[in-house]
Amino acid sequence: MSAKALNAIIICGPSGVGKGTLLKRLLADYEKYFAYSVSHTTRKPRAGEENGREYHFSDRDAVIKMRDAGEFLELCEVHGNFYGTSFAAIKRVQEEGKTCLVEIDVQGAQKVKDAGPKQGLTASYLFITAPLEELQKRIVGRGADDEETVRVRLATATKEFDFVKRNPDFFDQVIVNDELDKAYKNLVEAINTEFQKHDMAPLPIL
Ligand code: 5GP
Repeated sequence: MSAKALNAIIICGPSGVGKGTLLKRLLADYEKYFAYSVSHTTRKPRAGEENGREYHFSDRDAVIKMRDAGEFLELCEVHGNFYGTSFAAIKRVQEEGKTCLVEIDVQGAQKVKDAGPKQGLTASYLFITAPLEELQKRIVGRGADDEETVRVRLATATKEFDFVKRNPDFFDQVIVNDELDKAYKNLVEAINTEFQKHDMAPLPIL
């Protein structure tokens, strides 16, 4: 019997690890294969972010209303804000016949692993990592966060690294982003390994 086709790739990794950059490149190179699941968040948009593109920027009341109506596959509080993947966000990508890229935190990934299969989601789980000192440099360099926010983000990163260490089988693939081009190549290879497990044709190498 052939394996069920993958319809989602769950991507985790701490703040500053370069998930956004890697995923943007993947979406640009393989537009026909993937689309991004646009989450809801109660955090404020950063410069350059657009409502409906990076996130659906919402207020707490709206998110709580959606939660109570059962509209989220998963919803978590991250750094004091709500972040959630709605069923509608996933459905939109599935209707395009594409594999959904779901960029969420580790708590969210755990929830998706529990709830996803019942919702018809067949997913692979990837973790993108980098040395903690490198993350600190990148978060501070980005200049978007005050000292306290940087501290909280690095504490979360430490917790996520710890989770990966304690649960070595949770993620199907771990990709180190110490050098962007190399990490991107490894990401495409990791996806192809997952595609192969699901009897799917590999991505063409560009
Ligand atoms: P940022 O504020 O830097 O965009 O994201 C902060 C964290 O929230 C990141 O770890 C990101 O992966 C995570 N995140 C983004 N969207 C979601 C979501 O829909 N659900 C969950 N659980 N986490 C999310």
